[in-house]
Amino acid sequence: MSDAVDILFAQNRAWSARMQQDRPGFFSDLVKQQAPQFMWIGCSDSRVPANQITGLEPGEVFVHRNVANVVVHSDLNALSAIQFAVEHLKVRHIMVVGHYACGGVAAALANVRVGLADNWIRHVQDVRDRHRDMLGRICEQRQPDALSELNVVEQVANVATSTVLRDAWLRGQEVTIHGWAFGVQDGLLQDLGMDVCGGASLQVSYDLAITRIRRKYAAGAD
Ligand SMILES: [Zn+2]
Repeated sequence: MSDAVDILFAQNRAWSARMQQDRPGFFSDLVKQQAPQFMWIGCSDSRVPANQITGLEPGEVFVHRNVANVVVHSDLNALSAIQFAVEHLKVRHIMVVGHYACGGVAAALANVRVGLADNWIRHVQDVRDRHRDMLGRICEQRQPDALSELNVVEQVANVATSTVLRDAWLRGQEVTIHGWAFGVQDGLLQDLGMDVCGGASLQVSYDLAITRIRRKYAAGAD
């Protein structure tokens, strides 16, 4: 193995030893079950690690990541993860987390061809096209940030309209979906105000979140 990979094993052994020393019983408790309250749907980008950003430990957040944090209704991978999280783990919160300076979003905006991922990023271009009028009124440098936020809002809506969430809410299960954006430049999460706790609240939250984005970028504020 290369030195670059060897060091991962060395760091892993050190982490395991440190955890066992500082937190006796930590791993034996983990073996018994995972009972996370949270599901994180985020971008694959290496700068956006769910646990570190939120200070959560192993066992506390169930994670699904893909390029540009997209939730497509025919994606069995994402849907299976969401179903498992909702129906078996009974998570209380699902957060869709986009980030600024997202390569997938930038590629979608600029029509950059990167390969097979073009077909995946097409979903973000659908978001771009849906909000073409708004984006057209935003200065070019700020369009990627605006599209990152719009993409999160649209993906929250996609989670909310999935059969998994509709069934959960019909059963009376309490689970709320949130839309957040992570700032690679400052390490902070922004709440986009897109919280959905049932089918009835989707349209109101969606309209408010889109209006908020329009005002934020039209005003030239951060
Ligand atoms: Zn990204």
